[in-house]
Amino acid sequence: QTYHPRCFKCCECGLCLDGLDFAVNEEDSYKIYCHKDYFKIFSPRCAVCNGTIDPIQGTNEVVRVVSADADYHIDCYKCQRCQMQLTDEPDKMCYPLGKMLFCYNCRL
Ligand SMILES: [Zn+2]
Ligand SMILES: [Zn+2]
Ligand SMILES: [Zn+2]
Repeated sequence: QTYHPRCFKCCECGLCLDGLDFAVNEEDSYKIYCHKDYFKIFSPRCAVCNGTIDPIQGTNEVVRVVSADADYHIDCYKCQRCQMQLTDEPDKMCYPLGKMLFCYNCRL
């Protein structure tokens, strides 16, 4: 795709993207974004802290926990009462209660 040089800028912050990394909105290819805004808008959001789940710096790899159709930071995926890290292991399974996450012992 070609753009007028003056149109070739992030539609969020207006940064000129000439020579920079950029990303195109998959649904609306007329909208282009700088990397920062693209991840801000399209990154999955953690269901606990509501923050975006950013890729590891310098990569496109996003580390997250996906459970019951929600996304979580690894660090946020823990029992909200005793703070134990939850995993798929049988004794550390997550027992969600509404939007809250609990371990087996704390959900009672
Ligand atoms: Zn931008
Ligand atoms: Zn989080
Ligand atoms: Zn617990």
